Amino acid sequence: MTVIVRIAPSPTGKLHVGNIRTSLVNWLFARKAGGKFVLRLDDTDTERSTEEFARGIETDITWLGLTYDFFAKQSDRSAVYEAVAERLKATGRLYPCYETADELDRRRKRQLAAHKPPIYDRAALSLTAAERAEFEASGRKPHWRFRLDGRQVEWSDLTRGPVHIDTTSLSDPVLVREDGRFLYTLPSIVDDIDFGITHIIRGEDHVTNTGVQIEIFEALGATLPTFAHLALLVGVGGEGLSKRTGALSIDELRRDGIEPMAINSLLAKIGTSDPVVPRAILDELIADFEMSHIGRAPAHFDPAELRALNHKLLHATSYEKVAARLIELGVPGGVAFWDAVRDNIVVLSDARIWWDVVAGKIEPVIEDAAFTAEARSLLPAGPFNEETWHEWSAAVSKKAGVKGKALYMPLRLALTGQPHGPEMRKLLPLIGPERAARRLSGQAA
Ligand code: GLU
Repeated sequence: MTVIVRIAPSPTGKLHVGNIRTSLVNWLFARKAGGKFVLRLDDTDTERSTEEFARGIETDITWLGLTYDFFAKQSDRSAVYEAVAERLKATGRLYPCYETADELDRRRKRQLAAHKPPIYDRAALSLTAAERAEFEASGRKPHWRFRLDGRQVEWSDLTRGPVHIDTTSLSDPVLVREDGRFLYTLPSIVDDIDFGITHIIRGEDHVTNTGVQIEIFEALGATLPTFAHLALLVGVGGEGLSKRTGALSIDELRRDGIEPMAINSLLAKIGTSDPVVPRAILDELIADFEMSHIGRAPAHFDPAELRALNHKLLHATSYEKVAARLIELGVPGGVAFWDAVRDNIVVLSDARIWWDVVAGKIEPVIEDAAFTAEARSLLPAGPFNEETWHEWSAAVSKKAGVKGKALYMPLRLALTGQPHGPEMRKLLPLIGPERAARRLSGQAA
């Protein structure tokens, strides 16, 4: 059996770390099994779906490197869903209901007041043909509900183990609205059947839906896929990650300079007890991906961990891999520059700060002008190399009688304007003799 999985985001918002984690797990699962990965846009909600969100989803998935073998969007497939709905109507599994939202609401309130569960009472099932005709004549259009069997639906979930959902405790779900538009449920099942989806891996917020969906799969005579419901991501303090905040959207992380492989490296391991290590390519993540390592407990997502991982990833990145992007950032420093700064940046654009330090104009910080003037007089003639700092600071130490921090900090402050940063032995050759001399004299240079 060829594994075929899908992700099915709705283009009603941006992808966030939660649905990227689901996407990545699906992708790794497919690639590990030599299977296929489908990107499907669930855009039946025509009021909230937009082209811009749809494009954003494709951009994000592609940027992360999650190549897809097949793309589909539900808005192209209405005729297929219509045909399946007709089949269900013909067998009486899909039945017309004429209640207005207000009527349903009043009914629910009455049930609650009588301490009954607020389940749809199936009044529409006992309407006579004449009553239905009367509703139609009065201008009401039906919405359509699926008649549940009402039973224990059971499946063996890849992450949760055996799961039971009692569908007697659920209202018959509305599959088609009164304006004829489909809600998510039926198109999703029809697509999963038509595309031969073998595994549905999604968030645990869909567990109850799965009970309903299994009944519909069976009503359509389809083979059931295997289900896996992943525990949701929560924040460091256990709070839910709201997809509406946008704060953790992939788009935003990209604009903040987070590398796609930092996101992938973290999200592939979150919720497992495997170590999180920065990986440069997805193949490495495929190699050590194990679905069975994903636990049932909510996984904690920490943006600080992502930044730390980004730092480690950049530190391990060779100059050739970032050269073109550095040029784009206006940082023409070559391999020596990259080697000097790559341990001191969290995101690539931080390189710009250090480029300004070595090649731009900074305000030197001079605490003791006599000391820095003395240091200046001891500066060797150029060109500087990686030994220069050691030799020169030893000479300054000898002459001024200071060492340790009292020696290095004033020199660093004068030469870079900052108390911390890359190793001075690497920065000094990049700063060069003229600029160093001017800075030691307190001139902005
Ligand atoms: N469009 C649904 C969602 O975004 C898809 C759920 C599923 O994977 O079946 O929640």
